[in-house]
Amino acid sequence: MTAAIEVRDLRKSYGEIRALDGLSLRVEEGEFFGLLGPNGAGKTTFINVLVGLVRKSGGHAEVFGHDVVDEYRQARDAIGLAPQEFNVDRFFPIEEVLVHKAGYHGIPEDEALDRAHEALKRVGIYDKRRERFDWLSGGMKRRLLLARALVTDPELLILDEPTAGVDVQLRHDLWEVVRELNENGTTVLLTTHYIEEAERLCDRVAVVDDGRKVEVATPDDLMDRGTDTVTVTLRD
Ligand code: ATP
Repeated sequence: MTAAIEVRDLRKSYGEIRALDGLSLRVEEGEFFGLLGPNGAGKTTFINVLVGLVRKSGGHAEVFGHDVVDEYRQARDAIGLAPQEFNVDRFFPIEEVLVHKAGYHGIPEDEALDRAHEALKRVGIYDKRRERFDWLSGGMKRRLLLARALVTDPELLILDEPTAGVDVQLRHDLWEVVRELNENGTTVLLTTHYIEEAERLCDRVAVVDDGRKVEVATPDDLMDRGTDTVTVTLRD
C-alpha cells in the first residue's frame, strides 16, 4: 500500500546546523500520526520539506507516492497545512483568503466560495467571514489556519503545534474537528510538545531529536515508559 508520507534518510543542513540528519519515517494512509520532540528537534523543517518550503539537502521524501521535489504539485495538492506561524494575507476578508487558497489549488471559482464558507463553519468562525485577519483573537486566528488548510479537502492534514498557547476550550474544539476529519479518512500529521495531546489523538507517535527519529510507539507506550524527551504535560 502507498504510504501517506514516506521519507528515507532525509537531510537538511543550514551551514553547520543539521536540522534533519537522516530522518526515516513512514505514515500510513488514514493514520493519525504525532511528531514529538524538543525545541529545535527538526519537526518544522520536516514539514517544510514536505510542503516544498524548504529544499532538502539529501535523502528521499514522498507524499502519497509523489516525490516532493519532482512531483511537487501533486504532492502539495494533497496537503492541507496549518502552520505554526500566522502567515495569512492581512488585507482581505478572511473568506477571500480561503477563496484565493482554493483557486491556487485549482478549485473552480464558483465552488471556491462555498468551500470557504463550509471550512469556516467547520471551525466555528463563519460569522467572522468578512473580517480581516488582524481583527481576530489569537484563538480565532488558530481556527482560521485550520479552515484554510481544510478548504481544499486535503487527503493529508498537517498541523504544526496547532494548540500551542490556546485556551482549554479551543484546544478541545480543535481536537474534536481533527478527530472527526481523521475518522472520515483524512490522514493527519500533528506536531506537539504535549504528550497528552498525542495520547488523546494519535495512533502512533515518532519522537524526534537532533533531526533524527529516536523511536516510534503508541502514545500509551511512551507514557508508560516516561520517555525523557517528552516532558511537557497539559493541565486542564
Ligand atoms: P520547535 O518545537 O521549537 O518548533 P522544531 O522541532 O520545529 O522546533 P526546527 O524549527 O525544524 O525545529 O529547527 C531545527 C533546527 O534547524 C534548529 O536548530 C533551528 O535553529 C534550525 N533552523 C531552522 N530553520 C532555519 C533557518 N531558516 N536557518 C538556519 N537554521 C534554521
